[in-house]
Amino acid sequence: MVKETGYYDLLGVRPSASSEEIRRAFRRLALKYHPDKNPSAGEKFKQISKAYEVLHDSRKREIYDHGGEDALSRNRTGCRNAFDSPLDIFNLFFGGRGGRGHHQADRKGKSVAHHLPVSLDDLYNGATRKLSLQKNAICAKCKGSGARQGSITQCPKCQGCGVEIHFLTHIPGVMSQIQTACSECNGKGEYIRLRDLCQVCSGRKIIREKKILTVHIDKGMKSGQKIIFHEEGDQAPGLQPGDIIIVLEQKVHPVFQRKGHDLVMKMEIQLADALCGCRQSVKTLDKRALLVTTQPGEVIKPGDVKCIPNEGMPIYRNQYEKGNLIVQFQVKFPENGWLDAEQLTQLQGLFPSREEPIITEDMEEVSLAEYNPYEEQKHRGRQEVYEEDEAEHLQQVQCQTS
Ligand SMILES: [Zn+2]
Ligand SMILES: [Zn+2]
Repeated sequence: MVKETGYYDLLGVRPSASSEEIRRAFRRLALKYHPDKNPSAGEKFKQISKAYEVLHDSRKREIYDHGGEDALSRNRTGCRNAFDSPLDIFNLFFGGRGGRGHHQADRKGKSVAHHLPVSLDDLYNGATRKLSLQKNAICAKCKGSGARQGSITQCPKCQGCGVEIHFLTHIPGVMSQIQTACSECNGKGEYIRLRDLCQVCSGRKIIREKKILTVHIDKGMKSGQKIIFHEEGDQAPGLQPGDIIIVLEQKVHPVFQRKGHDLVMKMEIQLADALCGCRQSVKTLDKRALLVTTQPGEVIKPGDVKCIPNEGMPIYRNQYEKGNLIVQFQVKFPENGWLDAEQLTQLQGLFPSREEPIITEDMEEVSLAEYNPYEEQKHRGRQEVYEEDEAEHLQQVQCQTS
């Protein structure tokens, strides 16, 4: 015979109800009156949460059965309620068992980026790559439950809520309580017999799985561009998997340099070609051969830049258009002494006439030496430091005299 039935009435169960009946009753009512679903029923939700907090705990239930609500509040003197809010109970009850309603969708696993080295040829022609990855996947055998179907029961120690409340009676007449994760189930709230553990994942609910991703590199994609595989990241029970992000990373090409939609290349030609017209072959990234020609009489100077329209990179998602191929000319001059004196005179006769300087007696004749700008800079740098030191020194002297 119990002293009061108020908490039992709130949950709609008889005072003789089993802990499982109490749990089921709370589950049904908590879902019905949860403030997210039923904002006007806040008070009702608070009451049923309080009733469940007491009745699911065998120790508290005993105190309530014997002395009613008064006995409970007497025992609580001097210590804070185990739960700050009725929502704590709700979250404890539903948390960790994958039934937290709309809160669950917000939980998304981490996205992971992988760098994929690609050649300029791949970006020009388009390519397909297979990428092999290891990832966590929900065990297919047990569907992420960790056990044989139907073998999971509620933890008998914590009645499925995952926490234990310990009553401490070190002060006579006053009972205080502390809350810890259930020692039987480690806070999971469920109980699985060893022989019922899933044999594939050994109860871990997830397995390591090899996954092959097929990466399509489209024509005209560029270095740093991301290809996203939605929700292909690690899976875990109650978690929306994160994304796998493939970041393209273009390797250096020996001939072409990419500048936006354009390709840039250096072309070294002989002095004779630079003066008399040239023919040079260029192998394109799609393995065609171009013959680059200049008109006879067209002079190419060192550093001249010309362009071949429509031979640059394909434009991403606009495959019929391409950028330009920009050619930077380098002219290779002959070595010293390539002609003897007579040939030089002949050659000189072919060039436009030169303007000779008027030589006077007071002129000093000098000869040219080899010049190394790097050595020169080092030398000059040292000198500047000396000069600065001196200036500083002078300033100090001036300060002292003024
Ligand atoms: Zn437990
Ligand atoms: Zn399994």
